[in-house]
Amino acid sequence: MYDLTRKTAIVTGASRGIGKSISQILGSYGANVVCVSRTADAVKSVAEGIVSSGGSATGMPCDVSDAANVNDLIKQVQEKFGSIDILVNNAGITRDGLIMRMSDDDWDTVLGINLKGAYHTIKAVTRPMMKQRSGRIINISSVVGLTGNAGQANYSASKAGLGGLTKSMAQELAPRGITVNCIAPGYIETDMTDELSAKVKEDIMKQIPLGRIGEPEEVAAMALFLSSNEAEYITGQTITVDGGMVMN
Ligand code: NDP
Repeated sequence: MYDLTRKTAIVTGASRGIGKSISQILGSYGANVVCVSRTADAVKSVAEGIVSSGGSATGMPCDVSDAANVNDLIKQVQEKFGSIDILVNNAGITRDGLIMRMSDDDWDTVLGINLKGAYHTIKAVTRPMMKQRSGRIINISSVVGLTGNAGQANYSASKAGLGGLTKSMAQELAPRGITVNCIAPGYIETDMTDELSAKVKEDIMKQIPLGRIGEPEEVAAMALFLSSNEAEYITGQTITVDGGMVMN
């Protein structure tokens, strides 16, 4: 059903977890995928996996918190592939702690990657997408950006910020045919959640009506839909993929 052939997609945080799944599914539907993270070897290997399954992909290292690094990446992608059709801002980190014990560095680093990183990439792709008069921007937020979470002031603020960024960008870019949406995953099985204690995992499980942890592929399926032509009338939305944890 979906057809992403001749579309170039940039996926940040593509070295593992949700970003890797998003890269793989976009690649399997024909997109030329630029897999981005700070770890060159890891994104190269994800890209090679897509190519060996018959797709088209390249790994490119970039730290999204560094504006110059991002501008350089976008320039390279434009020179190499021409268009940039899809941007998935998925790179994200946690540095949890109660506010009394949170260092300025924990605050700045999380905001710098999760929120400012998305600002850098969006700013850099806007010009080429506006010229094309088309584009898809998808920001990966979190349910805690909607609800807040004790011990995650920095992370939840960064994710709530992505919601505001999404709505503002959706309004600014709609006249040029560019849609901007957010996906808010719930509790998904990746390295990020692997580090949670058994007690925290048990408490989260109790809040999931569907009674199970989500898979990265389930978030990737929503990213595929929002990247497709079929989603062209959806913009400015935050869509939860969370087993029913947060019901709007
Ligand atoms: P992982 O920790 O498994 O992966 C994070 C990815 O982000 C890695 O590819 C990492 O690669 C990359 N990354 C981190 N910092 C940077 C940076 N400065 N520049 C470029 N890439 C970077 O996390 P998940 O797959 O679990 O999470 C992916 C996204 O989904 C995140 O935004 C997260 O907040 C969000 N999310 C996850 C949930 C979950 O339950 N897992 C729930 C809700 C939201 P590298 O280290 O190589 O740079």
